[in-house]
Amino acid sequence: MNHEQSRDLYDRALSVMPGGVNSAVRAAIEPYPFFVERGDGGHVIDADGNRYVDWVMGLGPLLYGHDLPQPVEAAIQSHASEGPMYGTPTEVEVEHAEFVTRHVPSVEMIRFVNSGTEATVSACRLARAATGRDKIVVMQGGYHGAQESTLVEGDGDAVHPSSPGIPQAFAEQTLTLPFNDKEAAQTLFEEHGDDIAAVLTEPILANYGIVHPVEGYHETLRDLCDDYGSLLVFDEVITGFRVGGLQCAQGKFGIEPDLTTFGKLIGGGFPVGAIGGRAELVEQFTPAGDVFQAGTFSGHPVTMAAGLESLRYAAENDVHDHINDLGDRIREGLTDIVADQAPEYTVAGTDGIFKVLFSRTAPETFDGHCEAGCRQRTDCPRFDHCPKNAADVKAGETDRWRRVFWPKMKDQGIFLAQNQFEAQFVTYAHTREDVEETLEAYKEAL
Ligand code: PMP
Repeated sequence: MNHEQSRDLYDRALSVMPGGVNSAVRAAIEPYPFFVERGDGGHVIDADGNRYVDWVMGLGPLLYGHDLPQPVEAAIQSHASEGPMYGTPTEVEVEHAEFVTRHVPSVEMIRFVNSGTEATVSACRLARAATGRDKIVVMQGGYHGAQESTLVEGDGDAVHPSSPGIPQAFAEQTLTLPFNDKEAAQTLFEEHGDDIAAVLTEPILANYGIVHPVEGYHETLRDLCDDYGSLLVFDEVITGFRVGGLQCAQGKFGIEPDLTTFGKLIGGGFPVGAIGGRAELVEQFTPAGDVFQAGTFSGHPVTMAAGLESLRYAAENDVHDHINDLGDRIREGLTDIVADQAPEYTVAGTDGIFKVLFSRTAPETFDGHCEAGCRQRTDCPRFDHCPKNAADVKAGETDRWRRVFWPKMKDQGIFLAQNQFEAQFVTYAHTREDVEETLEAYKEAL
């Protein structure tokens, strides 16, 4: 494959943008990222004219791939040509809020913002204000955006910032847990419960491999939060309106969080985030309450139109069925390939997300049951190998993935997530042929 144009663009980019990119993960491709010229259905075409089956899909916001249904495209164009924004409310914001509150039972009221990061920042502030406590619990390997309260490393209360520029005093307000470890959660609450404002977790870790909750894990968190008067916050930036369809992962797992953060799909491919939850909580945001929250672009009419029409179209058509069927097919195909060629690896995912984890570890102390609806079940022949938390994923052959596997897939015209940790996404634009082509490439590369 020729990459001359991408290389030239990268050279230019390096002198005007740090690392040549506007978001860290994009530069993970070596020796330089390919620059995309345009999308086409389930594919992208790079600046040199190379075509790839695209399983990155903007890192999650594209339910329809690069092919918007006509009503979605029309709504975007009409709102873009009418303003495009005003600094005063519009009907489409109300309609979008009504749509989300109608479909997600735990969400009675919602505040739209402009990114997943902004959503989790505001959710932490709201949880702290509502409880009068400071500490936020996050999962090791969970990702909640580029924000001070969650960019931490460490275990329990021995936590430090994971980036320069974050004061240790901030990290001291954050506690961490290994995902899926009920006893660790119990112990942490016994020690710090009265200071914990909220537990913030992705329902499925989707930024660190894909790690599914074991049976009863979220129930344990729910009970602990109830017992200690803390809030349970589900970060559904990735899972929202994807896993579990319109009822989101919380519906699929039957757990009612106090607050939910959204992003990605609810903006239909435009910058978005949101914080939803019980009215008595969300109403504490200004101007209804006194927890300060504001944003010039929040509830942007073009974004709201794109997000609302995308979700509406999904509600009225076979969008999630198509995506979930293709998701099942690719996971089944990968399971066969992995069993044959790399039995120590794990195929993870559910609904429209999938990943092959290059992990070899079997956590010896683990005695839980996996309730994943994927390959990570106790009756699965690979159950012992299946990662249950971030440490298990990290112990995998991440370097092999990066240096050997990813480039081999790219050379076969398959664009996978830029590192071993991010989920890959099936969209309505993908076809059975895309899946079969991808499976052939996995077979070859593995
Ligand atoms: N939470 C989760 C679960 C995410 O996956 C992400 C981004 N991948 C964020 C928050 C941050 O969202 P954004 O990049 O839109 O700020």
